[in-house]
Amino acid sequence: MSIKLTCLTCGQGNRIPEDRLGGGAKCGTCGDRLMKDKPVEISLDILKKAERLDDLPLVVDFWASWCGPCRMMGPEFAKAASALGNRARFAKLDTEAYPETGSRYSIRGIPLLIAFRSGRELGRRTGVTPAGEIADWVGASARA
Ligand code: ZN
Repeated sequence: MSIKLTCLTCGQGNRIPEDRLGGGAKCGTCGDRLMKDKPVEISLDILKKAERLDDLPLVVDFWASWCGPCRMMGPEFAKAASALGNRARFAKLDTEAYPETGSRYSIRGIPLLIAFRSGRELGRRTGVTPAGEIADWVGASARA
């Protein structure tokens, strides 16, 4: 069984055997690791590709540097990323750097987390969320 994953570094689509997820699978184009144990800063273009293609849940933290609660949640988000290991990937998108993000994803407030998989939004939650709750929520979304 193989799954599709977008490289969060260069945006290349990759197809890898599911059992190699934990084995340091690398992008065929840029050679970077597809699975990381911490959130990766991504561009809107990469998000657009990944949300359509990825077979593994992609959890995105929509944030901005001026947003105090976003900065508070950053470490919680990172803890949740390492807790979930290979069951999901975590990314951060700077809404200030990509202003069109707000209307594309109907964002009314940040911090906002949205989980995507295979072209579908699995769920979203707004406000500061502790690591344990993020992990539970993503785990439940991934099974849905
Ligand atoms: Zn790559």
